[in-house]
Amino acid sequence: MRLKIKENSTTITRRLIQILAFLTINYIIIEAIFPINLISLEGFIKFLPILNSPRNPLSNGAGILEYIFYSMANGIFPFFMIGVLILVFLFSNRVFCGWICPIGTIQDACAAIPTKKKKLSIKTHQSLLKIKYIFVIIIIIIIFPLGITRNTNYIFYTEFKNTIGAFADQPVGFFSLSEFLFVYFPTIIQEIFPFSWDYFASYTIIGFYILIIVISVWYPRFYCRYFCPFAAVASAVSDYSFLKLSRNPVKCIGRSECGLCERVCPKQIRILDEPFEFFTGKGECNLCIKCKEKCPYDAIQIKFINF
Ligand code: SF4
Ligand code: SF4
Repeated sequence: MRLKIKENSTTITRRLIQILAFLTINYIIIEAIFPINLISLEGFIKFLPILNSPRNPLSNGAGILEYIFYSMANGIFPFFMIGVLILVFLFSNRVFCGWICPIGTIQDACAAIPTKKKKLSIKTHQSLLKIKYIFVIIIIIIIFPLGITRNTNYIFYTEFKNTIGAFADQPVGFFSLSEFLFVYFPTIIQEIFPFSWDYFASYTIIGFYILIIVISVWYPRFYCRYFCPFAAVASAVSDYSFLKLSRNPVKCIGRSECGLCERVCPKQIRILDEPFEFFTGKGECNLCIKCKEKCPYDAIQIKFINF
């Protein structure tokens, strides 16, 4: 019974933070409640995820990573923002993904629908994990020549920009659900009705994202695992973070006797195959702490490495 109370308090705390974050960093909702003078917040606004929308005159994207990519596509190397992002990862690892990200919250709400959760085969799971890295590579292939030639060869820049069309202005928008949902969707939804084949690409993207959200009812955090560009960048540096989880091999009784941590993990991480000193699930762990709160033997701990 004592264990049950402990489980609920962690989950409730995380849920409350997720709901609060969803409301406070979502410009569309803030704008609906409080009329804010955005110009006075210009320098501040661009660092905050999602605090943008098509109605926001300062809108460049849905979050810091999107803004970094936009800056680079426009020939600016955003040292300060990259530094901020690295510090966030170093000190909090992927806590943002597990506790704050609105897209994570939407998927967690879907996963809360009482259905039997499913797992993909290890091979399929491992293969699909690569998709998000491919997305980031495609984005970089697009933005690097754009950003460099904007300052060095403007004719090439203009021709390349015209050739790749909308990708040039919104390289992240085609791969980021947060960008799509919070920045473009409200505008797109006004444009695409009544039905017209001219908007076939928009219908396809909307259908794809709706499908992904629906799938997350059975496969929690489906978008985070396989498609999110932010997750790709975060997971690449996660092993270097000071904040990680560890597993006490003395307390843990193993997969055949227990394995509860792996069964509840929404990211399908094979915790018991990871090093016990610390684990990040090869960067996939978003520190939701479900494994820790469910472990009946208190074998999983949060720790700051090197501190
Ligand atoms: S839930 Fe705890 S005891 Fe059970 S396998 Fe996982 S770490 Fe070990
Ligand atoms: S390993 Fe634990 S903390 Fe990390 S995602 Fe899985 S359940 Fe959450």
